[in-house]
Amino acid sequence: MINSKKHENHTLNTEEDIEIKEIIKKEIERQKSQIILIASENFTSREVIRTMGSPLTNKYAEGYPGQRYYAGCENVDEAEQLAMDRANKLFGSEYCNVQPHSGVSANLAVFLGVLNCGDKILSMNLRDGGHLSHGHKQNLSGRYYDVHTYTVNPETEMLDYENIQKIAREVRPKLIIAGASSYSRIIDFDRFREIADEVSAFFMADTAHIAGLMVSGYHPTSIGVADFTTATTHKTLRGPRGGLIFADKKYADLIDRSVFPGVQGGPLMHVIAAKAVAFKEALQDSFKDYSRRIIENSKALCEYMKNDGFRIVSGGTDNHLFLIDLTSKNLTGSEAVDALTSVGIIVNKNVIPFDKLRPTIASGIRIGTPAVTTQGMGEEEMYKIGELISSTLKNRNNNTILKEIAKKVRNLAGDFPVYTKD
Ligand SMILES: *Cc1c(COP(=O)(O)O)cnc(C)c1O
Repeated sequence: MINSKKHENHTLNTEEDIEIKEIIKKEIERQKSQIILIASENFTSREVIRTMGSPLTNKYAEGYPGQRYYAGCENVDEAEQLAMDRANKLFGSEYCNVQPHSGVSANLAVFLGVLNCGDKILSMNLRDGGHLSHGHKQNLSGRYYDVHTYTVNPETEMLDYENIQKIAREVRPKLIIAGASSYSRIIDFDRFREIADEVSAFFMADTAHIAGLMVSGYHPTSIGVADFTTATTHKTLRGPRGGLIFADKKYADLIDRSVFPGVQGGPLMHVIAAKAVAFKEALQDSFKDYSRRIIENSKALCEYMKNDGFRIVSGGTDNHLFLIDLTSKNLTGSEAVDALTSVGIIVNKNVIPFDKLRPTIASGIRIGTPAVTTQGMGEEEMYKIGELISSTLKNRNNNTILKEIAKKVRNLAGDFPVYTKD
């Protein structure tokens, strides 16, 4: 008996999954050797990773702290309460829900809370920077709700609030959504609030991309302005993969019920604990500094590309990302991604406002600086990266030059390791 017990423990503790281990090793190597300019990605801290890898993952905790459907929740209750307290402090809010598994889950919970099937929503057109979960026809939001969209102004490629107001007056939506995945300018949440009030709509701000900038004071806040603010924890906020919802206290029960049992079951307690860790990190002064540097880097890289003859959508950036329109270069977004990937520069193809190409091909690429800024790169490195991008695209058919560029990319990435102990 004693032996068999020992054997069980042994199995549980030490059996390695060689295949997965090898894949993780390769992925760490990839992240270390490439230059990652995907606007929605970042390097989270070791402490966040450690917390996600903790036995908190074993605990079922349907419900909320103090009101669970399972016994044995006293410790995870503390973790979730700490996550909520820190999130409220960080965002300056009176209520939050830290359980959404992702940004989309957070959005769906808000929709479930305020909308019925067939209700009208007004959101940003996907092609102009909006997100799939704001009404794409294959997303639940597009299938269950009557979706109307606003675009950017064709000349300025920026949000045109008068036009949004005009559409809102015509459509009279039940919910207006502000927020985007590929919009490089400040979003005027106050103006959206006025528009929503005029047509008696709810107003949701989806701050998935900009949450980190917002809590650092580098983007106007939607807290206390929008009825509901959703966010992700893994983009500029630099935490574990996950979602968040903020609202006035009067919506607390509605949102809590919409998340669980509305759209989710048991919360991911290991991730919620890791969110708490990330919030603590974001409450430090150094995080404000980090957010400022993200934007400085974004502006520096954007200026470089612009001076080098690339057309920047809307002419510039106020945040962590910008879009390059490659139309005049006779190059599609997808071709550019292939060329850049071959040298180890990772960006994503992106549709641009009024794009004539399909999203799978797209006329542009999206470039973001949260990850390289975490690595400690500054403006000088941004100019180097700009040069590497530019010469890759110009010499995309010259393998000799591409090989030289690939070496420079590896060296530059190697100079800025994130997880130094690896
Ligand atoms: C990234 C993003 C989301 C989705 O987040 P997931 O965690 O991938 O579900 C939602 N809204 C916007 C605007 C985003 O950019």
